[in-house]
Formats: sequence, C-alpha cells, structure tokens
Amino acid sequence: MPPVISKLPEVGTTIFTVMSSLAKEHDAVNLGQGFPDFAMNEALIAKVNEAMVKGCNQYTHMNGYMPLREVLAEKIGNLYGASINPDMEITVTPGGTYAIYTALTSVLQPGDEVIIFQPGYDSYIPNVVINGATPVLIPLHYPDYSIDWEAVRNAVSSRTRMIMLNSPHNPTGAILRENDIAALRTIVKGTNIFILSDEVYEHVIFDALPHHSMLRYPDLLERSFVCFSFGKIYHCTGWKIGYCVAPAGAMAEFRKVHQFNCFSTDTPKQVALASFLKQKDQYESLGDFIQQKRDYFLQLMKDTKFRMHNSYGSYFILGSYGHFSDETEKDMAIRITKDHKVATIPVSAFYQTPTDNKVLRFCFCKKSETLEKAAERLRRV
Ligand code: GLN
Repeated sequence: MPPVISKLPEVGTTIFTVMSSLAKEHDAVNLGQGFPDFAMNEALIAKVNEAMVKGCNQYTHMNGYMPLREVLAEKIGNLYGASINPDMEITVTPGGTYAIYTALTSVLQPGDEVIIFQPGYDSYIPNVVINGATPVLIPLHYPDYSIDWEAVRNAVSSRTRMIMLNSPHNPTGAILRENDIAALRTIVKGTNIFILSDEVYEHVIFDALPHHSMLRYPDLLERSFVCFSFGKIYHCTGWKIGYCVAPAGAMAEFRKVHQFNCFSTDTPKQVALASFLKQKDQYESLGDFIQQKRDYFLQLMKDTKFRMHNSYGSYFILGSYGHFSDETEKDMAIRITKDHKVATIPVSAFYQTPTDNKVLRFCFCKKSETLEKAAERLRRV
C-alpha cells in the first residue's frame, strides 16, 4: 500500500463509538451516545412502508422531495416567521452532521478562521480542518457554559469566515438567550462572517423556554446555514435524515458539494415525513415529553454522589464528581462502565485544549426503566 498522508492526523475514533462499544462489551446501561432507547412512532413507520409499497424507491430530487421541502418551509414560517423558498433555500440531507460538513465545505477556503466554542460537538473541528481552515477555539464559561462575547469580539479577525453555534447545546444542555443574539448581531453586522447554526435539538427545549433559532432574525438568517435533524424529532437517529436552510446564494454552493457527495437522500422516508410533519402536535409536544425524562432522571440522581448541572434542552445533562474523586473524566467514564455498568461520555472529549472539570455527560432520553437501572447502579459509585 502507498503511504497514506493523513488529512486528519490528530483524529481518532469518535468518543460515541468508543463508549457505545465499551458499553456493549461490558453489558452496561448506555447513557453515553445520544439516542433514544424507546420505540419510534408506528404510524410514521407505516408511512415509510406505504411509500415503499407504492413504488417511491428511486432517486428523488437531489435537493429533497419537494412536498417535504414545502411542508418544512411552512413549518418554519409558522414557528419563526421566516419566509423560506423551498425551491432555493432548503436541502434535505442524510443527517444533521452531513449538513454541517457540507455547509462548511461549501464556504471555507484554506486560511479562513472559524470560531468554535468549547466544549462542542466533536465533528466541528475535523470538519473545519479538512477544509484547510483554522479553528479558533473559545472556551464557554464554566460551569454555566455561557458564551464569553468579549472573547468572541477579540477573536474576530479579517480572516474570520464563520462562527459555529449550537443551541440547545450538546453536550451541556445550555441554550442561547436574548442577550446572546444581541451580542451576535452586533459582532457580525457589516462583516463577511457566516454563521453555522446547529439546531438539531430545536424542539428538545424545556421549561417553556423559547428556541432562539437563526431563522427568527432576518439579519442573522441572511448569513446562516441552519442545520436540523429528523432523527432527534421522531426518535429515529438511525434514519440519518436532516436538512439545511440557507439563503439562496449560499445554498447554491451547498448543493454543488452535496450533488457530488451523496446526490440525494432516502426517498421513502422523505415521502413519509412530508405527510407526517403535518401533525404539528408530534413535534410541539416533544419538549414536554423529554423534559419529563430530564426531571425523572434528576430525581433519581439525587440518591447518587453526582452533582447535577442544569439542562435547558437537548438529550443531555452534565454531572460533576470532582468533590468525591480525582480521576480524570476519561478514567472515570471507563471505570464506571466496567465496574458499575453505566456508560457516559467524558466532557473532555468535547474539548481540543486539554480540559478536565470532572464532569460526565449523561443521556436521559431513555425509557424510565433504563434511567432507574442506571441510577441504581450509579448509587454505588
Ligand atoms: N449526537 C450524538 C451524541 O452526541 C451522537 C452522534 C454520533 O454518534 N455521531 O451523542
């Protein structure tokens, strides 16, 4: 074999695969990788089946099945007041992560700088690096994980091409607030900076708090790629289907990359989703449904030594253990998977700069029995 010169020499296997494999190996309850362990909606499964039986099994339009894009545009209009052209401004993709990669690839040039907050979802930095751009890392304030806008202001240079945002935030469960939007607006005004907004947990937001989508703010939307995931809405992360919304000019470039990568996305699922999305209650009730899981998990965790943080959205909540152990997050996560049979994610995996606040990420988007079993085991830690 000829020598391989890695384009991502620093990158190993993603922590989600590492911890899920370890969980399997040790027969542990998996509160690591973020996925629901309960059944998805049967009516939606039936609709996919129906689409396949009807013969919707060939390529659909490369930008997405038009009736699905239309219903998405309508949903966006109702929720955020934005007028989105389904023909020019929405592309259906094989998952949210793919949408993020494609957006970055369509605008980044070698030498560009991208502002990324730490901790952050683990695909962002490699996605920037593989495009020859430079991640400029800004730590979120510990322990509330709010954004230090003064640091952002100082980090902006003539080479800043993008700011990456994620709300509700993985791994911390923090959300963007009104003051964040105000600061962001002032910083990007009159610049050439794009925003990549990862909003895959759009509907997984608690305590009746508003989701500050970029889609709400015309001055931000005009420079944004906003990425979404159906897996997180309909409890089917394995479907790998999502979409991106961006202004027509930016979306045209996005589609140039997409058409020669995946070309088009799964047809029968798009046909099913176009019809299922009309049932608004299905996504409108999601925040309350998952909030109940957060609250139940918090109650169960009271009997453990972990000090739980606040989570305002997402599938995740953080728990601190520094008051009872000096172990690194990675050692702790591995030890409790092996010895106590509960898998979690060390938050250090979401940082590039070595950071160990002695915090683990727990996924609470699980059946009550799963959460009970996990908490019972965690009581012994
Ligand atoms: N988004 C999920 C998480 O944070 C995992 C996605 C993945 O495994 N790539 O756990």
